[in-house]
This record gives sequence, C-alpha cells and structure tokens, in this order.
Amino acid sequence: MKNQYSLLAQIFLWPFLPQYKVNVVNELTPAVLREIEVRHILLDVDCTLKRYDTDLLEDWVLEWLETLETAGVDVCLLSNGKKSRIGKIAEHYNLEYEAMAMKPLPFGCWRVIKRSGWDRKATAIVGDQLMADIAAGNFAGIKTVHVTPIHPETEPIFTRIKRPLERLVFRFAMVRRGTLDAPKKETME
Ligand SMILES: [Mg+2]
Repeated sequence: MKNQYSLLAQIFLWPFLPQYKVNVVNELTPAVLREIEVRHILLDVDCTLKRYDTDLLEDWVLEWLETLETAGVDVCLLSNGKKSRIGKIAEHYNLEYEAMAMKPLPFGCWRVIKRSGWDRKATAIVGDQLMADIAAGNFAGIKTVHVTPIHPETEPIFTRIKRPLERLVFRFAMVRRGTLDAPKKETME
C-alpha cells in the first residue's frame, strides 16, 4: 500500500514525498517488490545499507542482497559519495555502482537506467534522505522507497542538519503510512 499525503503536501512538497516507506531495506523482499512491480533498484549506500562510519555491510544486508540476486532483481548502488570510497565498497561486494551521483538531481538515476537497459517504470530508488534520494527519484520519474536511516548520528553535520526538516515533512505531509507487507501467500517461484 502506498503512503497517503495531504493534498497541500502533494502540491508543495511532491519532490520529497516517497511513495513507500520501510524501516529497514530487508523489508523489501522479492515478494514485496513483485507486489509493487519493481525489478530494478537504485540503492543508496550511507545510512541506508550501513552506518556512515564503516565500509562494511552487515550479514543481514548481504543476505538480503543475495535474495534479490536469486530472485533476478537488479541492484546498482547510487551514491553521492566519492568514486574512490563507493567503488571500493561496490567492488568488495561485487556490486554495480554509480558514485558522485549528485542526488537530488535525476541524472545519476537516468545514467544507470540507460546504461543497464532497465525499464524506468519498474525501477525504484531506495534511500534514507528525502532531500537527496527521494527527490532524485521523483525528479527522475521512478518509484521511491524511503528507509529509516541507520545510525544517522554518524553522518557529517551537513546531512544531520537536514534530519529535523525531514521529520517535519513527514509530520505535515503524511496522512497515512502505507505498509509494505509481504503477501501472505508464498508467491516465490
Ligand atoms: Mg544515505
């Protein structure tokens, strides 16, 4: 189920409003992704997959990424971080990536979609920042999934100062939070 927002919010805040919201990325199981018709994922890195101050992904994240791979869901890391840092993480875990994406601009999303031959309508951006990830996804015309940030206190100050604003956006905009429950019946092949 999609999030529901007030009309005023939809008019004035549309770039920052995610269609869907989850607490952690592994709520996006293959079954849930099928339900919302997503086959390709642009995945933010810092505070979405891991805390800012480490370059290691925890086991539960790696397990989730494996289930996506098995289910044939494409994943590409999309980060504003430097190529040297993001590239190292991506290569270590054998993932596709696009660094220096300049989110909230949509060009990084479009570059990956074009390069990978993805269907834009079946593509979602998954990230923790309304003013970077979600705005980039909305400007790019793809689906958007907001993730509650992992340990946001580890982030640089220029990111941390945006957090109270993000909470305000949700408080004023959201009428009803959609919950992305996996379908009851096991539909995996
Ligand atoms: Mg992030």
